[in-house]
Amino acid sequence: MDENENMAAALRRLLDDSQRAVIFTGAGISTESGIPDFRSPGGVWEKYKPVMFDDFMASDDAKREYWRQRFARAGDMREAEPNRGHRAVEKLVQTGKVSSVITQNIDGLHQKSGVPDDKVIELHGNSTYTTCLDCGSRYELEPIRDAFLANETLPICDACGGVVKTATISFGQAMPEDAMRAAQIETLQCDLFIAIGSSLVVYPAAGFPLIAKEHGASMVILNREPTDLDRHADLVLNEEIGPTLGDAVGVN
Ligand code: NAD
Ligand code: ZN
Repeated sequence: MDENENMAAALRRLLDDSQRAVIFTGAGISTESGIPDFRSPGGVWEKYKPVMFDDFMASDDAKREYWRQRFARAGDMREAEPNRGHRAVEKLVQTGKVSSVITQNIDGLHQKSGVPDDKVIELHGNSTYTTCLDCGSRYELEPIRDAFLANETLPICDACGGVVKTATISFGQAMPEDAMRAAQIETLQCDLFIAIGSSLVVYPAAGFPLIAKEHGASMVILNREPTDLDRHADLVLNEEIGPTLGDAVGVN
């Protein structure tokens, strides 16, 4: 048995023992789908300075910068397909082992892999569509992209004239209450909490693994590099996500 098989076996054992597991994902689960994470070399932060929510609201220049960034990055997110890690997560949900997937990702790939919408809790929203910040009306991205790329037209709401933005939570924007509440409930009810592909530094999202641990759940961290929460975990797997999770769950 090589070390990789040992790791997969340890994870499999924890899964076997669990009655109700929760999976928590970060950008790392989507890098194998070609979407760069934030903090790795070549990640998003090396190229763009994020537009803070207050700045976005305050000026059209900031809004244009926001949409420029969104559409510069759009290629990777629009065409991305779920990878082996997403498929393994989907299987765990489908078999009933995992009650829900709490994600910091905004790429919609858990849903695209087949996890039902009501099993995905999006803490930072979703960047594959847009909403009006005033009335909540939903607008698809394509027409907004076309208009913006033509002459930097800023989208406004047809229904109320409000400001339209991707359905994501920007830096400085309030966390979505419903998603936070749902994540809290799931975290308190689980007996196994598996954090996958997150540097676990963005709070409040990164607080969930500790809440689970404090309430008696086992905690697993699967991430290429160490995190600050490793010392609290029952099992730390510093491995690639797709192969590790795929082997543990038996998914290609
Ligand atoms: P992060 O970039 O801070 O951390 C990602 C972690 O995953 C890193 O520690 C990295 O070492 C690890 N990793 C990357 N690829 C991996 C692989 N194949 N196997 C194993 N480990 C791998 O991302 P985060 O913790 O999610 O937090 C930052 C924020 O990034 C979130 O708020 C999220 O909204 C946003 N974000 C989302 C996406 C997306 O939707 N896919 C992409 C970029 C950023
Ligand atoms: Zn509106």
